[in-house]
Amino acid sequence: MTRQTTMLNAYTPGAGHLAPQDEALANRRARALGPAYRLFYETPVHLVRGEGVHLYAPDGTAYLDCYNNVASVGHCHPRVVEAMARQAAALATHTRYLHDGILAYAERLLALFPPDLAHVMFTCTGSEANDLALRIARAATGGTGVIVTDNAYHGVTLATAEMSMSIGPAVAPGATVFPIPAPSAQNYPDGIAAGFAQAVSGACDRMKAAGIKPALLITDTIFSSDGVFPDPPEFLAPAAAAIRARGGLFLADEVQPGFGRTGTHFWGFQRHGPIPDMVSLGKPMGNGYPLAGLVLKPETIAEFGQKARYFNTFGGNAVAAAVGLAVLDVIRDESLQENAATVGQAFMQDLRTLAQRHESVGETRGAGLFIGQTILTDGQPDPARTARLVNAMRDNRILISSTGPKGDSLKIRPPLPFGLANVDQVLTTLDRLLPTL
Ligand code: PMP
Repeated sequence: MTRQTTMLNAYTPGAGHLAPQDEALANRRARALGPAYRLFYETPVHLVRGEGVHLYAPDGTAYLDCYNNVASVGHCHPRVVEAMARQAAALATHTRYLHDGILAYAERLLALFPPDLAHVMFTCTGSEANDLALRIARAATGGTGVIVTDNAYHGVTLATAEMSMSIGPAVAPGATVFPIPAPSAQNYPDGIAAGFAQAVSGACDRMKAAGIKPALLITDTIFSSDGVFPDPPEFLAPAAAAIRARGGLFLADEVQPGFGRTGTHFWGFQRHGPIPDMVSLGKPMGNGYPLAGLVLKPETIAEFGQKARYFNTFGGNAVAAAVGLAVLDVIRDESLQENAATVGQAFMQDLRTLAQRHESVGETRGAGLFIGQTILTDGQPDPARTARLVNAMRDNRILISSTGPKGDSLKIRPPLPFGLANVDQVLTTLDRLLPTL
């Protein structure tokens, strides 16, 4: 499979079409940050301010944000900013002192999970949460083998980068990562639930042949980087049973779908039924403040807790806890999960209507405000056309991206206060641009 190792819609340094002040910034950036970073879009966007579902350029140009799931309750939400500033002015220490804030937050968060998931550990990034989960899974199972999907992304640490096929295969000697095809109808034509579970068992067989014991099946519960595969609901249940039958654990990576985005449920795994052994959280958790964590069953952490101790200097600090609480308050008080359900459904319906007018609009997949939209040429998914569309949308002040192994689907994942008028703006712009590409 050809992976999207170069970003089809990315800026080419020196392409020469940037405004002089932005060209200067791009050059300084390359000099200071080095060659591994990539900018979005052929013409990068220079931003100075965010508010609600909009991002603003220095000259005041407003971009409609259809992409950023970190600022999930809206960019720079005043209640979150206020909570952050208030706590930063009062006390900013770590989890080695008694403090009510972290406990108030932990209890509020855990109340959003099934009772079996009774502990939470705090980190600063989703990568750290997944890395910690792997350490815990190794202690709990005595195994090392990890199953991921073909184009998964789970983080940037050594262990989680090896679990992230989308940034390249696990190449280190001794890597014990076993990829399986993503749960699409195309990959499993005889049924996704049974096929995906069989793939998990098959990966365990491959481990056994290599003398490796299973530790973990980890999946993003919306399969964002694989191309967005939410349906049918409950297809994950047999896969979770399959890894448990072989002595491994099931980790639901909620870094992308968590915190109400999928609309019908607060967590992506709840659409699928099985209660995971561990759940990793991140991105939207702090609405831009680095706040992430791992929720788990007490029996999963028992062995690790006896043998190791855990401390993360910034993870769960007093400011993080105040921010996390404010984010939960805003999701509840502004009915953002309900908004994700209603607006997401309208968005998908409108995309399906658009498909009747434009043969380049293929399958729409999604749950709530997490949508993958395949773009076609002559009935076949077309990454190059998708990239042209992403760039044309940017030029029309709508920020969007692509997903999937080849980048042949639009990834639509706006802040949750996204409204029906915003959906109209996206659909009108797509309708106008599609025939030109
Ligand atoms: N898991 C998933 C599914 C992600 O999308 C990401 C980030 N894109 C991570 C883990 C890693 O999170 P972070 O960048 O906070 O380390």
